[in-house]
Amino acid sequence: MLRPARARPRSSRVGRFGPRSLTARLLAVTLIPMAGLQLFALREVDRQRKVASSADIAAEQMVILQRAGTVIVPLYFEHTATLGIGRAEALGLDRELVADVIGVDFITILTESRAELDEGLAALRAVAGDTVLATGETFDDALTTALEQLERVRSEFDGRRLDPDTVDGAFSALIDTLSELQATADRSLDSTAATPGLILIDRRVDHLHSALRHATLELRYLAEAGTLGSVNAPVMEMVMEAGAFDAAIHDFPEHLTAECLAELNEMLAGDSFADVARYRPDFVVRLVAADGGPVDVVADADTVQAIVNLLLASFDRLRDLQVFADDLLEEAVGDARRIADDAQGAHHLALAVMIAAAVTSLLLLGLVVRSILRPLKLLARKARQVQEGDLDVRPSKPSGPTDIRVVMRSFNDMVTTLRGYDAQVQRLAAGDTRIDDSLPGALGETLRRSVSHLAAVTHQLHESEAAANAQARTDSLTGLANRTRALEHLAEMALDARTTGRRGAVVFLDLDGFKSVNDSEGHAEGDYVLGQIGARLSDAYRTHLVARIGGDEFVVLVADADNVDDVTILARDLIALISRPCNGLSGRLYSLSASAGVALVDGTRDPLAVVAQADSAVYHAKERGRGQVEVFDNRLATEIEDRAEMALTMRQALADGQFNLALQPIIDVATMRPAGAEALLRWRRPGLGEVLPNDFIPIAERTDVILELERWVLEQAVVILREWRIDPATAHLRLAVNISGRHIIDGRLADFIEVLCRRAKIDPTLLDLEITETHLVADIARASGVVDDLREQGVKVAIDDFGTGYSSMGYLHRLTVDTLKIDQVFVAGMCDDRLDRSIVELLLRLGDSLGMRVVAEGVDSEDKLEALRAMGCHLAQGFHIARPMPVEDATQWLRARTGAVADA
Ligand code: C2E
Ligand code: MG
Ligand code: MG
Repeated sequence: MLRPARARPRSSRVGRFGPRSLTARLLAVTLIPMAGLQLFALREVDRQRKVASSADIAAEQMVILQRAGTVIVPLYFEHTATLGIGRAEALGLDRELVADVIGVDFITILTESRAELDEGLAALRAVAGDTVLATGETFDDALTTALEQLERVRSEFDGRRLDPDTVDGAFSALIDTLSELQATADRSLDSTAATPGLILIDRRVDHLHSALRHATLELRYLAEAGTLGSVNAPVMEMVMEAGAFDAAIHDFPEHLTAECLAELNEMLAGDSFADVARYRPDFVVRLVAADGGPVDVVADADTVQAIVNLLLASFDRLRDLQVFADDLLEEAVGDARRIADDAQGAHHLALAVMIAAAVTSLLLLGLVVRSILRPLKLLARKARQVQEGDLDVRPSKPSGPTDIRVVMRSFNDMVTTLRGYDAQVQRLAAGDTRIDDSLPGALGETLRRSVSHLAAVTHQLHESEAAANAQARTDSLTGLANRTRALEHLAEMALDARTTGRRGAVVFLDLDGFKSVNDSEGHAEGDYVLGQIGARLSDAYRTHLVARIGGDEFVVLVADADNVDDVTILARDLIALISRPCNGLSGRLYSLSASAGVALVDGTRDPLAVVAQADSAVYHAKERGRGQVEVFDNRLATEIEDRAEMALTMRQALADGQFNLALQPIIDVATMRPAGAEALLRWRRPGLGEVLPNDFIPIAERTDVILELERWVLEQAVVILREWRIDPATAHLRLAVNISGRHIIDGRLADFIEVLCRRAKIDPTLLDLEITETHLVADIARASGVVDDLREQGVKVAIDDFGTGYSSMGYLHRLTVDTLKIDQVFVAGMCDDRLDRSIVELLLRLGDSLGMRVVAEGVDSEDKLEALRAMGCHLAQGFHIARPMPVEDATQWLRARTGAVADA
């Protein structure tokens, strides 16, 4: 059977949602990657947002660069034209004349360039006015400052008072401002290179920018050289920039789209590039040849023409380049916008995916958690039920993930097995050791093994328990049932009697004088004899329970005892069986007898009370002599009650002084002189008169009242003896006192008498103690010890009523006494019955041979006295001599007789 569960299941230690709960774990394992995913998506969203913003910025910057590009050509043209015309005018040439000489209408072109530049700058200001330059000021402010100088140069030019040396400074300010703007835009563009597409755009724009820079620098050095005349340094610079430009243009195809590449190739094959290629060598050769000084326009018209040709070709090429750059930037802006749009789209998509993923994950998580938690919760509930000791759990239908189904199936099996195990253990407890084969699975097998083991152990336990039980209920000496078993059986009989009305009976058998076997031959002999008697009883009466309940006490429990007479007959048969001679160990033959007490079992009293009744009945049987059967009935019960009451009354009577002594003289048969007297107890009960000893002494002997009574008698006896001592006529007289066996065995008697005699200064040898032989036989060893002690003190001991007791001859050799008192039964018949006469003669001879005095009791006639005298009897006592008399009368009688006989 399962133990009941402890008060709190341990699962409470971990909360329903504690860090170790399944839910928390599931959430943790699902949410952590989900959070990672979200983070990733968030980053992607952020990245796409950045890409979009970068692409936007790139587009913006490219628009700035595009706008900035549109002003380059008019700016350089105005600068070169202004400076060229200015220098020519400084040399004294009229600007119209110069135009005529070189065949180019500079003024018109200049005017157009100015308008184009202003328009371009206005447009540029509109898109890049707020751009903060590296100098810290806005492009708007820087441009305003630069334009102030330009306006001044323009107005001086228009007023024909231009100082050519100030032109470079004014234009440089504007060029620097634009360069600053381009550099800033470039840097911004660089910082936007976040994706391969934007990197490509950046690289393309960088390249374009680099090519444009080389082209403008080439033009600048070209203009510088042209307007200054032969200056080696600008020419060298120009040549280097031209080379760098060619290299830059040459590298372009790596970065361009097919469309752009076609446009580039078309541009490269165009007139401007061919013209530059054609006029550049002539220009370089002439300027190098000029070597230093300014070109004399009028004197060296060819050189001037070479400068103008290359300048115009270069401007054309720059314009073509500008157009190409514009297209390229336009395309790049488009690309950037597309990238921005794509990124924006990707950003939204990522956002949508992120939200969708989150929602889906949560849904999935919910489903998973539900599919796992539901069966698990069910399982947990049932597990708790089992843990609390309740096996009445219905198997749950497996559901959820495979692992959980497996666990649920295992749990179902486990519960089934446990239930089977529990039932098995309960059957085992009820004594059924058959093993149940239906316990399923490996667990069932394990449990089956442990149950088998348990069954074996239980079986052994039952066996040894049964053996111990049997042993506890068996008398080891005889092998019969013992007292415990007898009482149990009696209880069953009582129950039977109560339920069926069928009466039973107890036959209580007490061996008569068995103690003498023990005392005389030792315990081994006694045990051997008891064993034989036990075997006889059990062999003869197998239908009844035979038990030994005490040393020499047996009981036979008769189940069917409706007829008391039948039980009495059975008791007699039992006594007869016991009375058959028994062999001792030594081969000696014993002839024992037994007394039986019968008590009926009618279910109204408990077993102990029934045994006590049977015991009382035995006691009464023994009182009636050996081999008697007494049935405990109402009469006996009343008698017992009366006796108990009497014992109580006697104690009170002693205290009230209701007892007194009568003295019966004892005479010397030969001389007829008084030898002494016997003290006989008398009870004068108020309202009832005198009660004789035979009516109360046996009752008193069953309790300690007898000790009190006899001590009182002894005290009185001492008083009498002391009184007698005073008178020489009575001083020699002996006084006999009757002492019960109980008092002898009590063990305090010798001391009591010693103290008594010493205090009263009485000679103990004048005191006779008469002991009835039946009491002596009861515990002969002890009695003999006490008797020896008493005789040592000088007290004389007599055996009273000799001849009526059991194995009189047998114990005489174990007990040394001074006097034998022949029972009055023999004396009564000695004149009429030859047997009695022979017995008296025999006893007289026995006394003589053992050196004992012999007293004949009950001498109630002269012829008996005569016969005794003839037989040589020493002493006599009886009604014929004197009846028991009050102490005073007896003392008087004795004194008178002593004197009378002496006188006679
Ligand atoms: P017992 O010791 O044998 O005492 C003698 C009994 O025989 C006395 O009876 C006495 O009255 C009676 N008797 C004497 N001569 C004759 C006779 O010629 N014919 C007949 N028929 N009877 C005679 P009692 O006084 O009734 O005492 C009976 C017994 O009570 C005594 O027998 C004695 O055993 C016992 N008894 C008396 N006093 C005491 C006592 O103080 N202690 C004890 N333990 N027993 C006592
Ligand atoms: Mg006597
Ligand atoms: Mg007697």
